[in-house]
Amino acid sequence: MAGYSLTRRGLMLVLSSPSGAGKTTVARALLETESDLKMSVSATTRAPRPGEKDGADYFFVTSDAFNGMVARGEFLEHARVFGNLYGTPRAAVERQLAAGRDVLFDIDWQGTQQLRETAPEDLVTIFILPPSLTELERRLRSRAQDSDDTVRHRMDRANSEMSHWAEYDYVFVNRDLAASIANVRTIMVAERLKRSRQVGMSEFVNAMRLDG
Ligand code: 5GP
Repeated sequence: MAGYSLTRRGLMLVLSSPSGAGKTTVARALLETESDLKMSVSATTRAPRPGEKDGADYFFVTSDAFNGMVARGEFLEHARVFGNLYGTPRAAVERQLAAGRDVLFDIDWQGTQQLRETAPEDLVTIFILPPSLTELERRLRSRAQDSDDTVRHRMDRANSEMSHWAEYDYVFVNRDLAASIANVRTIMVAERLKRSRQVGMSEFVNAMRLDG
């Protein structure tokens, strides 16, 4: 029997959580070990934070440039999040998916809803919850020397983001980093095995049956 490369459709894997719930750490660990997974780099009108690199963390653009991209249909989804504009550039995602590879998105609930409307078959959504509000506050405080006001503001944002947890396919509490990474890997393995994603499978099975 000839060798077949089993092509599959790439996954669009969305990780959403309130900031401080550990999403970024989970995402980084996955990207290091999953060679078929690439992060989608969003465009934003917000200013870069210290240490952030243009083209790696975000494409930092002006409002005019952002609106031009919207008008030309260059975003898969876009939304205003806490006063700034954010959007997922379409071309890089489409290239990656066409090559049968997976894309990881760190986007909010509004963007997730838009992707659900435009690409329901490719989409897998995960919501990560913090173990408790006390723990979330502790993480937010330890992360930076933020003022009480800033921490309170972030806690308010966390509250409003968490209200959308039930709109996601999968949800888990991030108590332990290793367990959380294992959770996302398990979800990816199962979703990659879905029959509808294995577009090369019928050719493989047909050839095997003819050979046998
Ligand atoms: P930050 O400014 O802290 O990096 O991100 C703020 C929020 O914007 C986070 O909840 C993040 O998930 C969300 N976000 C980042 N990029 C995008 C995007 O391209 N689209 C949408 N809808 N949300 C995004």
